[in-house]
Amino acid sequence: MATGSYRRILLKLSGEALLGDEAYGIDPKVLARLAGEVRDLVANGLQVALVIGGGNIFRGAGLAQGGMDRVSADHMGMLATVMNSLAMQDALERMQVPTRVMSALRINQVCEDYIRRRAIRHLEKGRVAIFAAGTGSPFFTTDSAASLRAIEIGADLLVKATKVDGVYSADPVKDPQAVFYRRLTYSQALREDLRVMDATAIVLCRDNGLPLRVLNINVPGALMRLISGEDVGSLVEN
Ligand code: UDP
Repeated sequence: MATGSYRRILLKLSGEALLGDEAYGIDPKVLARLAGEVRDLVANGLQVALVIGGGNIFRGAGLAQGGMDRVSADHMGMLATVMNSLAMQDALERMQVPTRVMSALRINQVCEDYIRRRAIRHLEKGRVAIFAAGTGSPFFTTDSAASLRAIEIGADLLVKATKVDGVYSADPVKDPQAVFYRRLTYSQALREDLRVMDATAIVLCRDNGLPLRVLNINVPGALMRLISGEDVGSLVEN
């Protein structure tokens, strides 16, 4: 194994992770820092796939609340994830990390289509594969897309990057009594409605035995420490 016990991981970044101090869109400094962290993982021999959300631009549910048809709104949300993916590709390639964006919706002039075997080939060649446009279907989230793709490509681990240190019994930003969970099971996450990911994403991981790490992406080097074998954040498994 290249690093720690991991060979291939899928990292899920929310669109919000790219916001930095901006109210909307992408903060180039934050993007560059995140790309640098991914570059370090690849430099250590790890195969890295990414799924990036779109919440910094559009979320389907939010647009639908304003009266828009939900399916059109979700299409806009998925296109937002394509924009974020292109921005991350650009940031990585400026750091000499070969990267391919593969979209679940066909936008051939802009990026490749998602084809599982081709995605695995990119990873084997040391390229970062960014899976854009979620699952390609409305009514899903990029957490579900991350779980699905991680299982499809045979990732050893799904890593969900958040703004807090891992999984808590309640939102630690709002509730100072919130209890931190270093270890928990998927069934517990569902039973206690712990909001680790949405239920579809959790069930996919549970039924396919894929472990999940939830960590704070605002702590520089957390990813590197994780793949070096440190017990970073929370571990969710069966
Ligand atoms: N989306 C979708 N199908 C998918 C994934 C995403 O329709 O498989 C849409 C949905 O509207 C969602 C938006 O894309 O709100 C952005 O994704 P998400 O909300 O998961 O982004 P994040 O919260 O991670 O930034």
